[in-house]
Amino acid sequence: MVGAGLSGAVIGRELADRGHEVTVVDSRAHTGGNCHTERDAETGVMVHVYGPHIFHTDDEEVWNYVNAYETFLPYKNRVKTTSNGQVYSLPVNLHTINQFFGKTMRPDEARAFIVEQQADTSIEDPQTFEEQALRFVGKDLYEAFFKGYTIKQWGCHPSELPASILKRLPVRFNYDDNYFFHKFQGMPENGYTAMIDRILDHPAITVKLGTSFASDMAREYDHVFYSGPLDGYFNYSIGRLGYRTLDFERFSYAGDYQGCAVMNYADEDVPYTRITEHKHFAPWESHDKSVCYREFSRFAEADDIPYYPIRQVREKALLGKYVELAEQTRGVTFVGRLGTYRYLDMDVTIREALDAARGFLACRADNRPVPAFFQKPL
Ligand SMILES: Cc1cc2nc3c(=O)[nH]c(=O)nc-3n(C[C@H](O)[C@H](O)[C@H](O)COP(=O)(O)OP(=O)(O)OC[C@H]3O[C@@H](n4cnc5c(N)ncnc54)[C@H](O)[C@@H]3O)c2cc1C
Repeated sequence: MVGAGLSGAVIGRELADRGHEVTVVDSRAHTGGNCHTERDAETGVMVHVYGPHIFHTDDEEVWNYVNAYETFLPYKNRVKTTSNGQVYSLPVNLHTINQFFGKTMRPDEARAFIVEQQADTSIEDPQTFEEQALRFVGKDLYEAFFKGYTIKQWGCHPSELPASILKRLPVRFNYDDNYFFHKFQGMPENGYTAMIDRILDHPAITVKLGTSFASDMAREYDHVFYSGPLDGYFNYSIGRLGYRTLDFERFSYAGDYQGCAVMNYADEDVPYTRITEHKHFAPWESHDKSVCYREFSRFAEADDIPYYPIRQVREKALLGKYVELAEQTRGVTFVGRLGTYRYLDMDVTIREALDAARGFLACRADNRPVPAFFQKPL
């Protein structure tokens, strides 16, 4: 397994449970991949080192899986946003709409108000993110809540992004401010890394940290599952797949800095996209001091951590070529968010990892070659 994140840990455990000897290597000094959590030395707060991670799923098997390795405590993601000097509730809901327009509308009234007085119905077939927003929520809400945040997050104007990024109607006409709709939502009591360490805790699994995968290592193993960057496996020989990266500016505070876990900043002239106050992700713990991350988004250069795949026209063309190269490579299966160049929530990562392990075992049982992908990147 190349990578000690969720993909490598879950596949490794499934195979170890079925009698395989597994080695997991990771170039980082810790397990957990991008879900890594650790206690902040100054405050004692559990920090989500690579950005906030909230577990949510409708997949009962995945929910049972994570609960077998860690206690999950109830947690609902309720995000706030600061826009033009006021604090609002997200996702844009009836509270946001009433506060923003200074009204007391009921659901039907608010829906009619947006459709009849705000939405730009002259746009018949929205092609861009901007047109989609103007068509369904109108200029005022678009400029207050979507425009500046999107420019900061993606580094380009919403008129250059596809309409598909924005849901058809990205507002709610009730007071539901739970960010996710999923049936199962929660936070691991002792953090994600504790859970992943328990997944990896098996006599047939050897974990080697601080160890970068080099292709000549593959010769020592029957098969490689690679959850590193797909283009990195081929030494970026035909170019780099584009990613956005994040910079986190840490600061501590004596007390409660913002009163919630995540505060977005919607205005374009505020350089960061959000502030995360980590102690609010563990409301069952009590800490006097607090640690926060200011989050800045930018294009990933060669030495940056790849976070969000850009997946626009140029990247998809390049991705197609890397997929061809991968399919000509024997003995390696590309998995996870980097190996398949897709944004994957944790529950989807676990689902795909379980399926990949089962797919591998089925191939072995039937004497079939193991494919380069169990999930096609395109
Ligand atoms: C900012 C952000 C916020 C997110 N928030 C949420 C959330 O709230 N809820 C949710 O469900 N999901 C969230 N996710 C998604 C979640 O992070 C992923 O689902 C998960 O990390 C994918 O696990 P993985 O094992 O595929 O990849 P990773 O966690 O990236 O693990 C890959 C590992 O491979 C190692 N590696 C790479 N190349 C090599 C090499 N050549 N040699 C050795 N090791 C190598 C890396 O060091 C890394 O540890 C978020 C993602 C981001 C970017």
